[in-house]
Amino acid sequence: AKVAGKNCFRFYSRAMNQAVERRVHLEQELRGAWDRGELSLVYQPVFRLVDGAMIGAEALLRWRHPELGFVAPSVFIDVAEQSGLIEVLGPQVLHAACADAVRWQQERDDEHPLFVAVNVSPRQLRSGDLPEVISASLRETGLDAKLLHLELTETAVIGDELHASALLSELRGMGIRVWLDDFGTGFSGLSHLRRVPVDGVKIDRSFVADVLRDPDDLALTTAIIAMAHSLGIMVVAEGVEKEGQYAILRERGCDFAQGYWLGHPVTAEEFLALRV
Ligand code: C2E
Ligand code: CA
Ligand code: CA
Ligand code: CA
Repeated sequence: AKVAGKNCFRFYSRAMNQAVERRVHLEQELRGAWDRGELSLVYQPVFRLVDGAMIGAEALLRWRHPELGFVAPSVFIDVAEQSGLIEVLGPQVLHAACADAVRWQQERDDEHPLFVAVNVSPRQLRSGDLPEVISASLRETGLDAKLLHLELTETAVIGDELHASALLSELRGMGIRVWLDDFGTGFSGLSHLRRVPVDGVKIDRSFVADVLRDPDDLALTTAIIAMAHSLGIMVVAEGVEKEGQYAILRERGCDFAQGYWLGHPVTAEEFLALRV
């Protein structure tokens, strides 16, 4: 038994070492990925439910490594966040997304300009220079602040609500819209919305996935919409994969939606070609 235990330990520690080594390797590779052109942004369209109009897009980062292939954002964003690399990548993403959004406005002659929504990680929020980073991107690209939306996760604002509130007020004062992402998955819940100044919430796709078969998820989604509206803020549903989900969200008064049924993430050029 002793020997088996030892082998067992050795086995686990080797597996753990491999996991650590993989992360270290990913971090090293990620460090130069932007400059080597391996990182790019794709855009997923966002629609308004009352009339089905496309109103903007969420920017999502993609990493295609020559040997590793596509690395999932959930994996490399986490590596970037843990290693601090996000403080370099974040501003590059912001700048690129603003630049793409400016091109959309120039190339579409549309009276309703499209917004771009950029994900901002907890570490970026805490970094202290976010307002400067953002105003630099806006200034350098010429994007109207009103067309820049930021998506922050619930967990990023929990804990340090005073700091978060002050920062979000400053950003909103610049004209930027702020959304609380993955809403409903944290423990903060709706009471949080009274203290953190946001323009809206994005209902997490785990709720949307089940609105047609799980009465609890439908009740919760309906409650989030009602509560958000009573507080004067808007609601996006993410992960809409079926027409039935779209229909029921619309019926319950949800403001906006995105998901594979409505449109997959596409390159900036493909996004421009969408005439919806
Ligand atoms: P998120 O912000 O919740 O982004 C939505 C995710 O859902 C995206 O995954 C998107 O491709 C996926 N999605 C969209 N529609 C559907 C659908 O109908 N069904 C399903 N099952 N999924 C759908 P993705 O691109 O893999 O990104 C994962 C996460 O990585 C994002 O979650 C976000 O937290 C993070 N992320 C991506 N790009 C960035 C970035 O530029 N900066 C930061 N800080 N985080 C990013
Ligand atoms: Ca998001
Ligand atoms: Ca989300
Ligand atoms: Ca459920």
